[in-house]
Amino acid sequence: MQTPDPAVGVIPTREFLQKLPKTDLHVHLDGSLRLSTIIDLGEKLDVKLPAYEPGPLAKAIHMGEICEDLNDYLTAFDVTLSVLQTEEALYRVAYELAEDAALENVRLMEVRYAPILHMRKGLSMTRIVEAVLRGLADARRDHGIICNVIISGIRHIAPEQSMRLAELAVAYKNKGVVGFDLAGAEYDYPAKNFREAFYLCRNNNVNSTCHAGEAYGPESIHQAIHVCGAHRIGHGTRLREDGDLLNYVNDLRIPLEVCLTSNVQTRAVDEFKNHPLKFYYDFGVRVTINTDNRLLTDTTVTTELSRAVEHFDFDVRDVRQLIINGFKSAFLPFHERQAILRATSAELDQLIDDELSSRGIETADAQTATDGSKRKKKRAGKVAAAS
Ligand SMILES: [Zn+2]
Repeated sequence: MQTPDPAVGVIPTREFLQKLPKTDLHVHLDGSLRLSTIIDLGEKLDVKLPAYEPGPLAKAIHMGEICEDLNDYLTAFDVTLSVLQTEEALYRVAYELAEDAALENVRLMEVRYAPILHMRKGLSMTRIVEAVLRGLADARRDHGIICNVIISGIRHIAPEQSMRLAELAVAYKNKGVVGFDLAGAEYDYPAKNFREAFYLCRNNNVNSTCHAGEAYGPESIHQAIHVCGAHRIGHGTRLREDGDLLNYVNDLRIPLEVCLTSNVQTRAVDEFKNHPLKFYYDFGVRVTINTDNRLLTDTTVTTELSRAVEHFDFDVRDVRQLIINGFKSAFLPFHERQAILRATSAELDQLIDDELSSRGIETADAQTATDGSKRKKKRAGKVAAAS
């Protein structure tokens, strides 16, 4: 008879979630600054901001507030981008973002942004990319967090510009850039218009992801996968509207980069309880938990996991799976990813056992001692090898 898993039904606390090693695979550099840094940069660089006090500035960028729609949410980037036009600012913001993530135990982060939006003061795209890579590399040196970059194309700018961004992703492949993305206003700007940029990446063996099914229906996800060849989907909130495509995504293990709070904020869903995250998870879809914009959405990965637990009753075992999904979905070379996955699986098991022990629940360790089985070892191996 199989021993019941002692972690099933155990609801994690926020403190426990904070301790766990985590990923953030969908996070925008220009939406994830510290509020104090915007003010500081605004003053130093003599940039006009809507406000220079934290409270009013937070209000002006809709920080953590429900917006009209995605386009309304995107207006906040006018403010953040205004202070991100120098190499020093880009370096600082990249470093601070990785530092903030490391402090909540994010171990692997893929930061995305569109270098073309940082050229207002004459910086070249290569200098923009290199400033960010330097910031992330220094944060890795100081905090141990693995930070790579995804270059984003932009839907509401002419597709030729996104082609330049795709070329940049190819040029910096193996130099810290691990993928290409398409972001921006989804409605009225279909992914198929950017097929050439995606093709350039695919033809050069560069990974890609694509925002889809956030402000538009499943047709958008269909295009992202079948016309653009995206390997992951940003959001995929409306995938549930097309059962056949949902099965395809599930069968092919195409990861969804779920950003729960952001989806409520942009009204991709009306409230947390109506988000399809739990439905996807129960269906077996490889869902990952991400922040989208730490500042604008006023969130962290720990907060996103807490909300998932709060609204969908995910237990310790489910949270472990959500986290493993993140590590499995990273744009990393296979062997590197497997090594990280093995180490993370073991660490998660240890943290779970410690948590259960602290709550007086008999752990796998204790069971091993009594029945002599190798259950714990087998469990870790199984997770690392699973698809
Ligand atoms: Zn996004």
